[in-house]
Amino acid sequence: MILSAERIRLNASPPDKESAIRQAAELLVQTGAIQPGYAESMLRREGEADTFLGNGIAIPHGQRGDRGLIARTGIAVLQVPAGVRWNGDDVAHLVVAIAAQGDEHIAVLRRLTEVLGDEELARHLAKTSDTQDILRALDPDAPLPQATAPVAASAEGGLTAEVQAPAAAGLHARPARAVTQLAKTFQSTITLAFEGRQADARSMIALLQLGAGPGARILLTIRGPDAAAAMAALQAGFAEGLGDKDEQPPMPADRPPPLQPGQSLVPGSITGLPASPGVAVGVLHRFRSEAAGFAETSADPVGETSALEAALQATREELRDLAQEMAVRIGAKHAEIFSAHAEFLDDPELLTEAHAAIANGASAPAAWRDATESRAAALAGLGDALLAARAIDLKDVARRLLRHLVGPDEEAAALPERAVVAAEDLTPSETASLDPAKVVGMVTSAGGPTAHTAILARAMGIPAVVAAGPAVLELADGTPVVLDGDNGYLHPDPDDMALAAAEAAMARGRDRAAAARHAAFRPAVTRDGRRVEVAANVRRPEEAAEAVAAGAEGSGLVRSEFLFHDRAEPPSEEEQFDLYRRLAEGFGGLPVVLRTLDAGGDKPLRFVRHPAEANPFLGLRGLRLSLAEPQLFRTQVRAALRAARHGDIKLMLPMVDGLEDLHAARALIEAERAALEAPRVEVGIMVEVPSAAVMADQLAGEADFFSIGTNDLTQYTLAVDRLHPTMGARSDALDPAVLRLIDMTVHAAHARGRWVGVCGNMAADAMAAPILLGLGVDELSVSIPNVAVLKAQLRALDMARAEDVARQALNCGTAAEVRRLAGLRELADAT
Ligand code: PEP
Ligand code: MG
Repeated sequence: MILSAERIRLNASPPDKESAIRQAAELLVQTGAIQPGYAESMLRREGEADTFLGNGIAIPHGQRGDRGLIARTGIAVLQVPAGVRWNGDDVAHLVVAIAAQGDEHIAVLRRLTEVLGDEELARHLAKTSDTQDILRALDPDAPLPQATAPVAASAEGGLTAEVQAPAAAGLHARPARAVTQLAKTFQSTITLAFEGRQADARSMIALLQLGAGPGARILLTIRGPDAAAAMAALQAGFAEGLGDKDEQPPMPADRPPPLQPGQSLVPGSITGLPASPGVAVGVLHRFRSEAAGFAETSADPVGETSALEAALQATREELRDLAQEMAVRIGAKHAEIFSAHAEFLDDPELLTEAHAAIANGASAPAAWRDATESRAAALAGLGDALLAARAIDLKDVARRLLRHLVGPDEEAAALPERAVVAAEDLTPSETASLDPAKVVGMVTSAGGPTAHTAILARAMGIPAVVAAGPAVLELADGTPVVLDGDNGYLHPDPDDMALAAAEAAMARGRDRAAAARHAAFRPAVTRDGRRVEVAANVRRPEEAAEAVAAGAEGSGLVRSEFLFHDRAEPPSEEEQFDLYRRLAEGFGGLPVVLRTLDAGGDKPLRFVRHPAEANPFLGLRGLRLSLAEPQLFRTQVRAALRAARHGDIKLMLPMVDGLEDLHAARALIEAERAALEAPRVEVGIMVEVPSAAVMADQLAGEADFFSIGTNDLTQYTLAVDRLHPTMGARSDALDPAVLRLIDMTVHAAHARGRWVGVCGNMAADAMAAPILLGLGVDELSVSIPNVAVLKAQLRALDMARAEDVARQALNCGTAAEVRRLAGLRELADAT
């Protein structure tokens, strides 16, 4: 018996984790499963991996190299009703010590995943005074609580065959992944059955849960249009061992050395910043988008000229198609970038330069490369973040055209299935041209969470991690990896445990998204009754209906400058009135926070006279600019005040740095209101300059509400340009310095009875939401696709715990420390 009554100790109360592990190991020693030295191995293993699984269950186990200390496979359970602190805030109530010699851990994992998924059962086992309860729940040999009927009986109309699990270690993670990959290439429904349990062949976790050991006989049942082909492929796969060699997994000593403490969230992982949520399991693939080689010179200028013309035309068509496809796939606004790229192809200076080089004996690709590179370097060298971004765009178009001219580097372009693409950074079109059927995740060594890669990845629903540093580029192609876009790390060479946890996280993510959509209209009320409003950031009146349908309770931010970003002339009052009225009506009486023009900095407007400034982010921007251009400001205020009769419009002033500008703006608004005899509207401010947070007590006397712009607040607090191409890793809004400013703002606002929202990107970060809740924020405004998921997360939280974790975060020293808070990780995962 792997687990028996003598190996279960109820009502233990070890003072700490080490004692708990020693007591559990002692049960295995006493029952002849291990030698005493294995306890030390278990303790060493804790230093390498977090064995806390969740729901109060921890599974200490020894290092692989110490299997010689195991006499026979055994499991012992130490029940700790009062709990013992494991790592951080994790508290274990069931310490399940595992000493596995062979593949038995698969069966144990299966059982534990079931218990893990059943909170009530886990709670019961933590308190039960009946050993049998634990025996029944954890003994892999006991019948399953919900055993299903053997599949052979229901195989009508399908093909069935018996296959054998690989002889080396059974259907563990690697072969199971091979099965899922094979299954996904067929349309048919493929089911595996073993000992009365069934698994969908597309689900890795279900396959692991079959518990099929070495050589186990598995019944395959396949139904569907390509059943015969699928059967042949699977039978061949099983016959060849599903890619599983007899080799043992590498010993820990063979693995790359773990990163230094502070560098990794999960032992052995590489930490970056979360950029697009979700978990992916796949193989690493270094992205290379180079064109094939070419000759530098040519004696045929006419031929080269026509080759360049043909490539220009092909690239124009490709970009047009790409823009159309992306508009359908991820929305028109993200597709605009490709239309913008096409502009470069008609740039007369660029073309003249390239043609001149061809006339002087250069080949077409060399001429094009030199012309675009010199122009991109010139743009990048101007020290202007916006122009530097255009330089990246130009390089992107240049590479695209070169691929048309000389063909792609085939070897570099081939993507494996389930690719986790690694790159220094990806250009927008590289991101968009990744085949979503093959790419399951993205990781970049540079870039930041507000870079294009991150924005497109979010819109495409592909998990992504950015700013992970050069280590990700040093991993070999084909390295198995787990990418966690929620917590921001890449875990190379994950073991079975990590793989199973990742598969379970993926399944949970899918279930959660579906459940969140269903419950989109339920308010976000925490378990202990605290209500948080969840609103949407919208750009156009047309998005109002979409936002309401997604569950938004209004708009917490309308960036009005985006309504006019392509205009050469300022919009008239009538035109603005029409837009704002449609917004107000689109939200049907729900609040709409209309931000007055935030021009300047990263958002220059063509119709505004921006002065030449060395540091536009620190210059005439936002409200400062509106006050410097009173005619522009007055027109906008009048249009908004008139539109407010058609709904609940509130005005919000951007980039407020102190009382003086706020007084001036309020006086102007009041004068226009009186002239129009319009009703009063609330006038709030963005808190996005550190001085506004510090002076929030004074500003709260003059502003009706605050909305914290964490994008700029982070930029100004940490002195990191929000568009900086390589410093993104330093601009984490969870930095305690930013959190303390948010805390000050909330306290000051509440003392005056004002509400506080957050409308920066931080509001959509699953790790930030519990902290913002705990700090007392009243409203969160996020992009439309995030609304339902955020509401669901808030509903699963508890204010008291959120306050506790927020307090801990305020006392952390760094953003990385905040992200490592165990209690926070648990809340980030809540739904
Ligand atoms: C912010 O700064 O967080 C914000 C919401 O404003 P914007 O990103 O438009 O500057
Ligand atoms: Mg801002």
